[in-house]
Amino acid sequence: MPETSYPVELTAPDIEPYRGGNTGIEYVTTLAAAEPGPHVLVCALTHGNEICGAIALDKLIRSGFQPRRGKLTLAFNNVAAYREFDPRYPIASRYVDEDFNRLWSPATLDGPRQSTELARARALRPIADSADYLLDLHSMQHATAPLMLAGLLPKSRDLARHVGIPELIMCDAGHAAGPRMRDYAGFGDPASPKTALLIECGQHWERRAAEVAIDVMLRFLIALGAGTADDLAPVGGPDFAAHPRQRIIEVTEAVTISGDRFEFVDDFRGLEVLPRKGSLIGHDGERPVRTPYDDCVLIMPSRRLLKGQTAVRLGRYVE
Ligand SMILES: [Zn+2]
Repeated sequence: MPETSYPVELTAPDIEPYRGGNTGIEYVTTLAAAEPGPHVLVCALTHGNEICGAIALDKLIRSGFQPRRGKLTLAFNNVAAYREFDPRYPIASRYVDEDFNRLWSPATLDGPRQSTELARARALRPIADSADYLLDLHSMQHATAPLMLAGLLPKSRDLARHVGIPELIMCDAGHAAGPRMRDYAGFGDPASPKTALLIECGQHWERRAAEVAIDVMLRFLIALGAGTADDLAPVGGPDFAAHPRQRIIEVTEAVTISGDRFEFVDDFRGLEVLPRKGSLIGHDGERPVRTPYDDCVLIMPSRRLLKGQTAVRLGRYVE
């Protein structure tokens, strides 16, 4: 099923009112409390077609929320791609030149290469450097259960549990194509207290993804003491007070495409559990790709099957 057959149920909000911001960086606003506390960063539109995060930030800003302590920065990341969002062809606007979320190594950011996304990542880097906590709001190609991407470090896993939703926490090392914002610098350093989470809220354009984005964002702010449940309840949605049993999927490998052509053998959507080791998943060029162990979970099988990109991640439930 091609992505375009998912209906676009969400309306991309007008973010032009946020262009000026107050940080000297376009589309970045910092709300500061008098009481000291951590600097919390919530990002949307790391991928320009993932509009649930923009809806969440728009709703939070329009609510008039002010943090009780520390600082809260709200950033719309890949605005150039978002401007190209067209509900008639919604897959087109993931990025302009390259994936904004594969650029987050000092070598790439300090390097000589130029692109629309690199310029934006360089502009946002001081915010990422100054933030103590990051939540990056994303959505997925297929309609599966929301996934919190907590990276490999226990500090992020602990924060995901503290946030309390969604049910599934996925622990992974990211992509061969380059580090994500959530893996950048201190966020990916076990010796640093900086902690980041990335939430995949659901299918890019389903109404439910925006509900998840809002509730996860609010629960993140409460977990970090930026606001209380009473402060934020008026903004909350159906999962605001949920307390699901959380399960952890440990990703053991990302299948990175090495051939000129990659094909899955089935119409995988994600979170399928293949019971038997050695089950065929697809072909990377001539090479068959098989599950490396029993009860292997397929995570976020991609429809962008290009050389060097991640076709699918493989993992298992550990809790
Ligand atoms: Zn994304």
